[in-house]
Parts: sequence; structure tokens; C-alpha cells
Amino acid sequence: MPMIALAPCSTLHDYEESVRRSGGDVRVLDLQTDDPAAVVRTVDGLLLPGGRDVDPALYGEPPHRAFMAAEPGRDVWEIALVQEALAADLPLLAICRGIQVLNVARGGTLIQDIPSELEGAVNHQVREPPHAMAHDIWIAEGSLLGRLLRERIEDDTCPVNSRHHQAIRTIGRALIVTATAPDGAIEAVEDPAQRFCLGVQWHPENFYRTGEFRGLFEGFVEASRQ
Ligand code: MN
Repeated sequence: MPMIALAPCSTLHDYEESVRRSGGDVRVLDLQTDDPAAVVRTVDGLLLPGGRDVDPALYGEPPHRAFMAAEPGRDVWEIALVQEALAADLPLLAICRGIQVLNVARGGTLIQDIPSELEGAVNHQVREPPHAMAHDIWIAEGSLLGRLLRERIEDDTCPVNSRHHQAIRTIGRALIVTATAPDGAIEAVEDPAQRFCLGVQWHPENFYRTGEFRGLFEGFVEASRQ
């Protein structure tokens, strides 16, 4: 059974359930003791979960007033995990904060606060219940995301939940945008040169009971098996 490394966060349960129900085993990493290069040598895939904001100093910008720092050391450690994983062509699924970490690790930048920086923004902060659909996304035909969600997509769109106040602004090296919200906010990126490298801005793990996005986790675990 493929071993998926899961970076720690405050809401592990749904991520763990999503991986297990898709045939993977989970190892929750420890920010203090797990060396990124050593992790990558001993697991089959890397899952980056949600969390607070990436320090904008890491992409060369001053902090917005709404900046909420992540745990000390987490930004740099997760960026190192991404770089080690991609260098080893290890499958990577990056969720919410994770897609932002992936983008910054590749030299991209972020919209620091969607409500004050994105004109005409839809509501990306629908908190309760966690699996409430918030807005549609448009999905690029022929993308990895499009293949994994083919049973959910109608007219190139599908509804998603949404709990984020940041999003990708300039895209990192070798990444392509494969989903956007109606206001243009980037909701998914991938690196087609990697075995499996997918970032999504919504929270597919909240649907582990009903399986709307099980295709994402099954595709990720399957790629990690190879
Ligand atoms: Mn959204």
C-alpha cells in the first residue's frame, strides 16, 4: 500500500480519511524532526494540507494587513518538501495553502487578500458546512484535473467548496493553470512534466464521506503506487 506523507495541520482527519479510502496509508510528518530530503526517500507521495498564509517575504512582498502567519518554520520546511519531492518526481497533491506553497516554491506570487485585491471577486469564504458548494470552477479540457474529475464535470465546469482568502497571482515555473473561478481566481495548477503534480485551491478532503472528489485522491494514490 503506498505510503503518503501528510504535512501536519490542525484538521488532519479528513485528509487521512480521504487517502485511506482511496487505498493509501498515511504518515503524518513532524515539522520539528522530519528532514525533507529524508522524508522523500522513504514515502511514495506527498500531501500538503491547508493552513494559514505563506510569509509574503518569501516572494518578495510586504505583508497585507490581513496576513495570518503560519506556525514558525512551516513555510520554509514545506517549500523544501515540495522541492525535494518534485526533484525526485514523487507524486504531490497540494490542497488550499498547499497550492500556494507549491506556487511560491516555484517562484510564483500570491494575491494576499482576495476581498481587497481582486475586483469583482465571488465569495471564496463559505465556512459552514465545510462541504457546502461555494462557486463553480472552469476546468481545462485534457488536463490531469479534467481526467480525474471527468465524472463530475458538466460543460467544462463543476461546483467546489471554498475557504481561502488568498490565491495565486503570478504562476510559478513550469506550472499551468487548469481551473479558475468565475472571477478569474486560480483554483488549480499542475506541472505536466511531473509524474503527478496537482494543486487545488478548494478542499476536496471534506467530501470523503460522499466521494465527490474521490477521483483526485484515487489518482494521487495510484500514481504513488507506481
Ligand atoms: Mn474558491
